[in-house]
Amino acid sequence: MAGKKVIITGVPGVGKTTVVNEALKKLKEDGVEYQSINFGTFMFEVAKSEGIAQDRDQMRALDRTVQKRLQQLAAQAIAQIPGNVLIDTHASVKTPKGYLAGLPEWVLREIMPDIVVLVETDNDQILMRRLSDETRMRDKEGSRSIAEHQQFNRSIAAAYAMVTGCTIKIITNADFLLEQASQNLAETLR
Ligand code: AMP
Ligand code: MG
Repeated sequence: MAGKKVIITGVPGVGKTTVVNEALKKLKEDGVEYQSINFGTFMFEVAKSEGIAQDRDQMRALDRTVQKRLQQLAAQAIAQIPGNVLIDTHASVKTPKGYLAGLPEWVLREIMPDIVVLVETDNDQILMRRLSDETRMRDKEGSRSIAEHQQFNRSIAAAYAMVTGCTIKIITNADFLLEQASQNLAETLR
């Protein structure tokens, strides 16, 4: 059977990467392998080599046409990866000029995901997680603004399902319940 392409999304700070790492550990124990890749890293490699961003968190402030070009190059490279692939990315990116679709039509047609996962939790939990993460330049926003972003991500995910026929899986990554979230993701990927 051809590999599965699963896209995992969630607002910055929701804990996607942590949930993914835990879920992949569980799956490995059962002999299920996924190659885990980060969409932003593919974009950043190009941005860095062109000298247009020194830090991955600078990319969302780049001109929209530049972000789209980086996005397209990343999608083309990722589409070549064989087997089961789990792609860590964003349903939408909050830019100074508004929400940018993370998976516009030309990205979806390259990757043709089987499943798009939305990782969510309460807005104030996300706010607290961002404040305590010193490794990243997380945007400073209030919980209302985080709520708007999470709502927008659900809406745009419906459009992704319409284009590709993929399923949309919502996974809650609540405080102290990482085990539940990673179990839920592992089941989804199996
Ligand atoms: P992350 O490490 O997942 O927060 O991604 C770092 C940065 O990569 C994001 O802030 C965006 O600027 C960019 N990025 C990641 N995925 C996408 C995407 N699908 N479309 C556009 N930009 C993206
Ligand atoms: Mg991450």
